[in-house]
Order: sequence, then structure tokens, then C-alpha cells
Amino acid sequence: MNIEHEDLVQMLTRLKLTAIRDRLDTLLDEAGRQELTTRQALAFLCHTEIEHKNQRRISMAKKLAKFPFDRTLEGFDFEAQPAVDPKQLQELSLCRWVAHGDNVLLLGPPGVGKTHLAVGLGRAAIERGYAVRFIQATHLLAALVKARDEDRLEEQLRQFTKPKLLIIDELGYLPFERSASNLFFQLVARRYERGSMLMTSNRSVGEWGDVFGDAVLATAILDRMLHHSHVVTIRGQSYRMRQKRQSGLLDAAKIQELETKKTRASFQ
Ligand code: ADP
Ligand code: MG
Repeated sequence: MNIEHEDLVQMLTRLKLTAIRDRLDTLLDEAGRQELTTRQALAFLCHTEIEHKNQRRISMAKKLAKFPFDRTLEGFDFEAQPAVDPKQLQELSLCRWVAHGDNVLLLGPPGVGKTHLAVGLGRAAIERGYAVRFIQATHLLAALVKARDEDRLEEQLRQFTKPKLLIIDELGYLPFERSASNLFFQLVARRYERGSMLMTSNRSVGEWGDVFGDAVLATAILDRMLHHSHVVTIRGQSYRMRQKRQSGLLDAAKIQELETKKTRASFQ
């Protein structure tokens, strides 16, 4: 049977097997060189297509997640941050907590790597096929308040409930208005036991009453957040400061002064 290259290209296009189509000659040559059986060659071609589709899905999902920067768990220097247990992070990177709809809290002062770890865990979840959305707490609240004012709160809540993992960064840097805290509670209640949340905060859990401006609301939110949760508390010094010190840009006394200003007493 004589099969023209063009015929194959047409069939592969129709089947949307674009990775095989685009490298058809190279892949067939490779299969021939390795003397693959028909069955092995088919598996080789399928594998190429699946890998390509997987990579495309991951890069699309990363765009939708809206991470503030590109960081990985592999790129986290655990030696520089002894307060973080590599075993706990390794376990979390398997994303069983996402499968179960559990939550993760990353707590600690500024610069210790909370956002880095949040992005790293978010990427790990995407690689395992979960939809992820990253948003700063202030932006999340602003979006909810705006939606409420424009009478489309329901739609906005639904949008933030859809991703399997919602990462809320920098909770507590600014306190919320009471009515905004109420909207936040509605979101937490809606996601409760359905989808996971990962929150980062520079405030210890005991201080969340101040963040939400209402002790009862804070308790209601914490109840749901902490029910099935993993808490990672990071103490210690800012990584940025450490780098500056190592590069000789700052002397030890100046760093001490800056860190004391930045670090809240609860994390000392
Ligand atoms: P936080 O969110 O706690 O304020 P970030 O995650 O933004 O801190 O960290 C500040 C910067 O330092 C980021 O660029 C981050 O990648 C880097 N960083 C922090 N801790 C580490 C670490 N242990 N290993 C590698 N990079 C780190
Ligand atoms: Mg941060």
C-alpha cells in the first residue's frame, strides 16, 4: 500500500494529532532506527502526542492561574530556611490535600518564601491536572465588593469557587472592612469541603480577629479553614535580606534593624 505523506498529514490533522503530524518524518525515522515493532512504534507515537498535549495543558493552566512570578519547589533553598520541613513540603507536593479538598496555611513574616512556596505548590497541583487560581487577598476582596455593588456577587463567587485550588496571598497585610469580611466568609463557606484553599499570611492565626475586624466572623472563617488543614509556620529571617548580606550590600547591624522593623513579634 502506497501512502503519500500528504494523506498521513491530512488524517493526523483530522484526528488533531498535531505533535505527530508536525514531526512525522523525524518520528518515523526514529522508530525505524530503533527497529521498533508496529506495536512499539504506535506506543512511541502516542507517547509523543500525549506528552505534547500535557505540556500545552500545563502552560495554558499556568496562564489561567495568574501566578505573580515563576517559582518551583525544586528552586526553594531548604537549607537557607530550616524552619520549613522538606519532608512536609515533599508530602504536600504530591497534592493529596488538593484531592481531598483540604487547606494549607503558610504563615510567617515577610520575605521568608511564603509566596514562593505557594506558587511552587500551585504548579505541582497544575502538573497533577488540577485547575488553580492565584490571587492577592486585597484583589480578591476588591473583586467581591465590586461584584456585590454591581449586583453580580453570585457569579463572582461561582468563579472563585470553580478552581480546585484557590491560592489567596498576603492575607492580613491590610485589615478588611467588616462587610468585606462577610463576603470573604461567604466564599470560604462555599468552598468548604469542596475545593482547597492555600492562604499565606504574615499574621498568626490568633491575630485573624484583627484582620477580619470581627471576632465571630474570624472564628467562623477559621473553623472552616482549619478543619482539614496543614499549617506551615515559617520563622526566621528574610531570604532577600540574606542575599543582600551575602553580597555585602548591607552590614549585619542594618539588617538587624530592618528585620526587627518588619518581623512581627508573634513570629520571633
Ligand atoms: P514572602 O511571600 O514570605 O514575603 P517570597 O516568597 O516573596 O516571600 O520570597 C521573597 C523572594 O525570595 C522571592 O524571590 C523568593 O523566590 C525568594 N526566596 C525566599 N525564600 C527562599 C528560599 N528558601 N530559597 C530560594 N528562594 C527564596
Ligand atoms: Mg509574599
